[in-house]
Amino acid sequence: MLETLRRIIQEVNAAKDLDQALAIIVTRVKQAMSADVCSVYLTDFNRKEYVLMATDGLNPEAVGKVRLALNEGLVSVVSERAEPLNLDNAPDHPRYRFVAETGEERYHAFLGAPIIHHREVLGVLVVRQRARRKFDDNEVTLLVTIAAQLAGGIAHARVSGGINGLSKNRQQGRAIEGLAGAPGVGIGQALVVYPPTDLDAIPDRKCDDAAAEVAAFENAVGKVRGDIETLAVRLRATLPAEDVALFDAYLQMLSGESLMGKTSARIRAGQWAPGALRDTIMEHTRAFEAMGDAYLSDRASDVRDLGLRILVYLQRDTRGQRDYPEHTVIVGEDVSATALAEVPKDKLAGVVSVRGSSSSHVAILARAMGVPAVMGVADLDVSRVDGREIVVDGYRGRLFIEPTPVVRNEYLRIAREEQALTTELAELRNLPAVTTDGHRMPLYANTGLVSDVTPTLNSGAEGIGLYRTEFPFMVRERFPSEEEQRVIYRQVLEGFAPRPVILRTLDIGGDKSLPYFPIEEDNPFLGWRGIRITLDHPEIFLVQLRAMLRASRGLDNLHLLLPMISTLSEVDDALHLIKRAYQELLEAGEAIVMPKIGVMIEVPSAVYQADRIAARVDFLSVGTNDLTQYLLAVDRNNARVAGLYDALHPAVLYALVQIVEGAHRHKKPVSVCGEMAGDPAAALLLLGMGMDSLSMSVASLPRIKWVIRNISRADARRLLEEVLKLDDAASIRAQLNRVLEQAGMRGLIAVRGGR
Ligand code: PEP
Ligand code: MG
Repeated sequence: MLETLRRIIQEVNAAKDLDQALAIIVTRVKQAMSADVCSVYLTDFNRKEYVLMATDGLNPEAVGKVRLALNEGLVSVVSERAEPLNLDNAPDHPRYRFVAETGEERYHAFLGAPIIHHREVLGVLVVRQRARRKFDDNEVTLLVTIAAQLAGGIAHARVSGGINGLSKNRQQGRAIEGLAGAPGVGIGQALVVYPPTDLDAIPDRKCDDAAAEVAAFENAVGKVRGDIETLAVRLRATLPAEDVALFDAYLQMLSGESLMGKTSARIRAGQWAPGALRDTIMEHTRAFEAMGDAYLSDRASDVRDLGLRILVYLQRDTRGQRDYPEHTVIVGEDVSATALAEVPKDKLAGVVSVRGSSSSHVAILARAMGVPAVMGVADLDVSRVDGREIVVDGYRGRLFIEPTPVVRNEYLRIAREEQALTTELAELRNLPAVTTDGHRMPLYANTGLVSDVTPTLNSGAEGIGLYRTEFPFMVRERFPSEEEQRVIYRQVLEGFAPRPVILRTLDIGGDKSLPYFPIEEDNPFLGWRGIRITLDHPEIFLVQLRAMLRASRGLDNLHLLLPMISTLSEVDDALHLIKRAYQELLEAGEAIVMPKIGVMIEVPSAVYQADRIAARVDFLSVGTNDLTQYLLAVDRNNARVAGLYDALHPAVLYALVQIVEGAHRHKKPVSVCGEMAGDPAAALLLLGMGMDSLSMSVASLPRIKWVIRNISRADARRLLEEVLKLDDAASIRAQLNRVLEQAGMRGLIAVRGGR
């Protein structure tokens, strides 16, 4: 059974569109279960009907024509109960409805399984048999499993391109739900970005000049052929001829009609070269894999490998000459920080990523740049959206593909209002963040880009509360040298002097990897990350520390921050290395002042030891992005569980209260530098808790200043006490939103995205 299931799923995954996938399913399931009929009905939410979409066994003419009302027939019983229905004689059931066009009168046994995605029934998978009999447990499980596997694909097709046969306007006017990544509204043309070595991620794109595209393809194939010939020559010197014969087979594949001819034909039919290559390679691998033989499956990976090699050359030729639309919305499976940085800033209207969430680094970067972003749009089929108009609603975490005029106009209105609010808030720039009862709450900026220095200075930030040093490491092909680092840090420290700048030591690992320092782990967020890596590699850590210390010479505004501390010995070891770097520089005659040193509290163990940590250092800074992830056991980048990720969870609030107590017991200041600090609702509570400062992306700063200036500290304390009595994040947010609304801060209410 498992093998059957594996084969069916493999074939379905390789299908080129939903119609083909459904056709494969009905045929294969019918065979596997020795049934007389297998059919798929999908829910047409717009017309409130079920539509027969594919069948093997019923009259094929009925496909697309047979429609059942939502309370009609056994399909609706399966859908309502969201459970399988197994009947030995369907016509006996009171809800049975006979449909003449299908020719189903001959069938008795009925088994239906719901196709469910995110708790919504998208359709029903049905098998029928002439005989009167109940399907056995194995058959029921097989059908339920296949229906569950099918759900994701159907959801994809539904939102991205519509499904032939279902009414279209629901898709067109319908929001595609994701997660709020960066606030704002953007309208522009989708440009799909994808990693250079992923064939599956290549989008469909029309080509204007087929001859040039074919030439580029042939040129790339020629280069791969050259590479393989060189490899073969090298190997012939050391290996017997028969082993090297494999390379001749590769060369034949590269010259063969089936690769060259078919791809060129696809290009001439209008597809661009990478898309045409993808389809040809897929067709080949599908054919090999369908043969179900281990040897031939290996040939499928050879074909893929050759395809990737061609792709790399194709992209090398086309990269860098890309024309960005005037209003570009970049869309990708997993949009990287570099893809974002490649788009000229004045053309970037929005970011959409299938994977990731609001705390992914690309979302953090988007917020820093003031570009709206929607993350975790799991239902989006990226391959179908290139070039289409997209509305990005970064407030609610949703998007619209080819919006209706009503939707489009509404978003244009919101964008205008937002512009007006931003202008209004900009007037606060030079005013201090002081509560109505006179308490000052310094607001700092988070950044990781040198180019941010001027805009950050203009934002009214009182300093840099978190400078993530990973970015300069991520954009290079090797570790930056001490001098390269010193120059970068100096620009930031100098730009802000005499205001404080908190430089965080390298926090790689987890979701941040360096191309030249790969870390392969099953569980990276619980693995080798942050301070754990830098303590294990003092040669990397000391270089960074010396660069930071030297950069601060004469400015004396440097603060150091240590990430991912989970045990006291890490603090001691890090302090030891910092002192060593400092001593070495003093001995070398450098006139440097010892910086203040802080620890990030972002791991539950550090919450419980916050007071002991505070006793050892000068300040604490709470990384609520990670703290929320670790306290709630919710991966911060996993869209599937992002609905559970909320820094307003009472457990997180209790932890924060405890951290403040721990720090203040030793008279040490404590701030929040996670994204929570930039959420107006959360800021009310952080003020009430007694946080000494907040650090956030520049885009959030004016809003938070507005909040602080419009509430008293006493009210914030009372509010904190009230919400700590509530059970969950949703009720807490609702309560805080009410307060924001009453205080006339309606425009600041963040509507959480997500499902
Ligand atoms: C955090 O975890 O809250 C934080 C500020 O650090 P980062 O997002 O870089 O992990
Ligand atoms: Mg962190």
